[in-house]
Amino acid sequence: MTRLLDDPAEAAALLRDGALVAFPSETVYGLGADAWNGAAVAAVFAAKGRPHFNPLICHFASADSAFAEVVADARAQALAERFWPGPLTLVLPRRPECRVNLLAGAGLDTLAVRVPAHPRTLAMLGLAGRPIAGPSANRSGQVSPTSAAHVLAGLEGRIAAVLEGGDCPVGVESTVLDLTGPGAVLLRPGGVPAAAIEAVVGRLGRPVPLAAAAATQSLRSPGMMLSHYAPDLPLRLAAQAVRADEALLAFGPRPLPGAGALWNLSPAGDVAEAAARLFAGLRWLDAAGRRLGLRGIAAMDVPAEGLGEAVQDRLLRAAAPRG
Ligand code: AMP
Ligand code: MG
Repeated sequence: MTRLLDDPAEAAALLRDGALVAFPSETVYGLGADAWNGAAVAAVFAAKGRPHFNPLICHFASADSAFAEVVADARAQALAERFWPGPLTLVLPRRPECRVNLLAGAGLDTLAVRVPAHPRTLAMLGLAGRPIAGPSANRSGQVSPTSAAHVLAGLEGRIAAVLEGGDCPVGVESTVLDLTGPGAVLLRPGGVPAAAIEAVVGRLGRPVPLAAAAATQSLRSPGMMLSHYAPDLPLRLAAQAVRADEALLAFGPRPLPGAGALWNLSPAGDVAEAAARLFAGLRWLDAAGRRLGLRGIAAMDVPAEGLGEAVQDRLLRAAAPRG
């Protein structure tokens, strides 16, 4: 049973316990989870039925709390001053001490952050005392919900609660702006018009279309990196055996023997645990493998059930040939 809540303190307590709570904002309802908690973040993808991991926006009670997790330059500070709380999401570099689980950011070095403009949600965020990761609170492939009833229509029984907050006044998603490069790039048009942003930071770039990025043969080009993490070491999938000069991304109770380094996504064979540990594991094996002079990473199969499908999707992308 999904509960309907009026009290932000109850919503915050559930979030701190690792439960999923949908929350109102001025744009659409978000599906919230404690962004520090890998299992809670994995549960978001499972509840939405997403077949792949997109980076999620992290929601904060204030610009100060957001900028404790990411590096904000003068542009970010000016935009936050002007538009927060409000429908603007800023993509910024993670701080080294950033505690947001890597799955929430799909393994990227960047993080999308926002302070939403809804009094009840701001109260909930303040009481939660941590970033709350939240995509739109709908099943994958359905339209974004702008009322608690819409949320329940898609997610009843799949999430712990909905914080009731009336109808969303803006009704379209937040504008997403990438500030990780020298020029600000509009990644997604949304609630704050591009012209209003340009009045603060000057002319905006548009993202490199994926096709153009592929044509320049560089999977490392900015357009691809927006949604894609890949280790430096080559990644080999569906390994049946592993060599001593390879690192092993294992799954299940019987990791292949003989690898030069080992990270087990889930010794118990749990796909949700594997999702929560995927990006941390790839990063750890990549660093350990390079330190030890290993040649690559071999990945064992993860079953395509539940979040396993999304794990496979990300592994396929991480293993794609690079230019
Ligand atoms: P939604 O999950 O529907 O709220 O959409 C989130 C949007 O923010 C998507 O368009 C994501 O691709 C984008 N986004 C989130 N995090 C990042 C990031 N680190 N880099 C680039 N885009 C991001
Ligand atoms: Mg969405």
